[in-house]
Amino acid sequence: MATTPSTLWDDLLAQVRMTHPDVVRGWFSDLELAQVDGGTMVVQARNTAQSRYLEQCCRAAFVEAAQAATGRLVTVDFHAAEEDPAAQTGAGFGSGDDQLVLNPDYTFDNFVTGPCNRLAHAAAVAVAEDPGRAYNPFFAYGPVGLGKTHLLQAICHTARERDPSSQYHYISCETFINHFMEAVEHGALHQFRYRYRHVDVLVIDDIQFLAERERSQEEFFHTFNTLHQSHRQIILSADCSPSEIPSLEERLVSRFNSGLVALLDRPCLETRMAILRKKAKLRCIEVPEDAIRFVASRIEANIRELEGALVKLDAMSQTLGTPITLELAEETLGSLADQPVRIPTIIEIVAERFQVKVADLQGRKRSKAVTLPRHVCMYLARQLTPHSLEEIGGYFGGRDHTTVLHASRAISQAIEEDSQLASQLDAIAREVKNAR
Ligand code: ADP
Ligand code: MG
Repeated sequence: MATTPSTLWDDLLAQVRMTHPDVVRGWFSDLELAQVDGGTMVVQARNTAQSRYLEQCCRAAFVEAAQAATGRLVTVDFHAAEEDPAAQTGAGFGSGDDQLVLNPDYTFDNFVTGPCNRLAHAAAVAVAEDPGRAYNPFFAYGPVGLGKTHLLQAICHTARERDPSSQYHYISCETFINHFMEAVEHGALHQFRYRYRHVDVLVIDDIQFLAERERSQEEFFHTFNTLHQSHRQIILSADCSPSEIPSLEERLVSRFNSGLVALLDRPCLETRMAILRKKAKLRCIEVPEDAIRFVASRIEANIRELEGALVKLDAMSQTLGTPITLELAEETLGSLADQPVRIPTIIEIVAERFQVKVADLQGRKRSKAVTLPRHVCMYLARQLTPHSLEEIGGYFGGRDHTTVLHASRAISQAIEEDSQLASQLDAIAREVKNAR
């Protein structure tokens, strides 16, 4: 019996969903089989971001499924129904100019808001709707894995949809530095400046890498001023606030602070649950509420890890051929308890909880505001890791083993006498274990 295109397509999609559930997204139901031409099947996506995702992450899955569905040696091509004009003219995103490729999942629709990120989200939406006018620059910062890149890309998606003719430049800070250094080396500063100072929107992710790069800072300062004076939008992200970027020139700190600086903080349980629901829907994974709550309560510090847990759970359920349940989640994620706690995780979380800098905890300062959390780190490192006293000392500027010993004894004693400190340390220890 001959297979009609629509059943062929249904078979193919079903096969991809079954064999490669990790790459499947909710929007796959919008894909169409545009053409079957000889040995090539052309799959049509809604936009360039989707077709790029398919090209980069799903080619093997689709080719395999197409071959299984047809029984022939076919290949698969991906096209976008709405070609992004910028992608064709080389004007905008991902034009082969070392620009970062937009992830189709990183849209405002897929961004969950809560008390931890509401301001950053609202500002990002305003910037996307009126680039260059609302908040300029827009500076999003926060610890790793909490949605900075997602938010930056969501602005790019929306701004591009609103005005496809605008010139965007979305790059990592490293790319800016590399381009600048190459330009200096090849005497091509003029072209470099033209390229960076004639865009409508300049988006630079992880701008903290400008730290200690004096010449790049100087160049960026002038890029910033030129764009800002002509009301072009500048969008930046970093893992800390402008004033915390080590050795960032004061004039740049004040430029960055002159627009809107918004924190993306660690999400509360409700928000983490909402994010998990959103991610599960996006990946077409069915997860009951009790399992959602369990996963969200186990992983607190980083949304990327939360998502990783969901993928792991899905893979486990596919392998065992059973649906995802609370029991399966407990079994799968329970093994997290076997992984060792890392001292840098302890330091990071203690720094956050005590509102001090990681560098100060590891440095030489001796004020009480720093020594208490430093001693707490040493105490927790002794309690939660198998490291020796010397090794622990090594994480704190090479302090010797007696210092570590005294510090952790002092904290043991302090928690006997101070129940508030004891419960604070309990909460931190739980967070550290969850962050594995
Ligand atoms: P960062 O750039 O801050 O390190 P990312 O933007 O790469 O973090 O986010 C890590 C992962 O967490 C991504 O998959 C992203 O989609 C997801 N994520 C982070 N915050 C949210 C949120 N508020 N809603 C939905 N997904 C989120
Ligand atoms: Mg990022």
